Amino acid sequence: MGIDSKNRASDATAMFESQSASGCQIRSFAVGPLQCNCTILWDQQSRDAILVDPGDEAEKIIREIEKEKLRIRAIIHTHAHFDHIGASAKMRDHTKAPLLVHPGEKWLWDNVATQGRMFGISTREIGPWSEDLDHEKIIPCGSYSWKTIFTPGHTPGSCSFLLDNILIAGDTLFQNSIGRTDLWGGDFDTIKKSIQQRLYTLDDDTIVICGHGPNTAVGIEKRSNPFVTG
Ligand SMILES: [Zn+2]
Ligand SMILES: [Zn+2]
Repeated sequence: MGIDSKNRASDATAMFESQSASGCQIRSFAVGPLQCNCTILWDQQSRDAILVDPGDEAEKIIREIEKEKLRIRAIIHTHAHFDHIGASAKMRDHTKAPLLVHPGEKWLWDNVATQGRMFGISTREIGPWSEDLDHEKIIPCGSYSWKTIFTPGHTPGSCSFLLDNILIAGDTLFQNSIGRTDLWGGDFDTIKKSIQQRLYTLDDDTIVICGHGPNTAVGIEKRSNPFVTG
């Protein structure tokens, strides 16, 4: 769950394709009724890949994986709102890859079906995750190493992921906005501290892939984000 509907990307099929400075391939596309940005990262040589936030539409995600002939090595989550983990069980069953989430998300993770019901969406229970995420944990993807940045505030265990000049920020930072802090476990002072101390300290030209809506850059948000300034 992220921003108000008026702030969501207008193009439901929007896709973002890029390469990190060192050549890791990155593809993001919106899934589900809340249009969560799901991201696939991969090493073009080995075809090893990481899946981030499979929020819904497992079939669509599987099509992308098969089209690119990728082997998913891990399924990682920025946080455990149902719109980011709704297809995690299906994707684990399909890829046999381990699920990773920060332990601060346990309550949300264990109550994914209840979360979905509140929005009238049926979501499958996932069962236990495989491995904890924590601050600075490295997630290998072929010859690349993505780094976890613990950025609590939107939820108690929200994390972001960084490689070179690319940041996947989940619902922590949006273009011209930030994640809601009025939902379970959210806290404004905490998200503000996460953004100022852990995201605004990255290079200004770092591209930010947001949990919903269009991407942005660290420098742009530092200068003009009305909720948290640099
Ligand atoms: Zn969300
Ligand atoms: Zn959320």
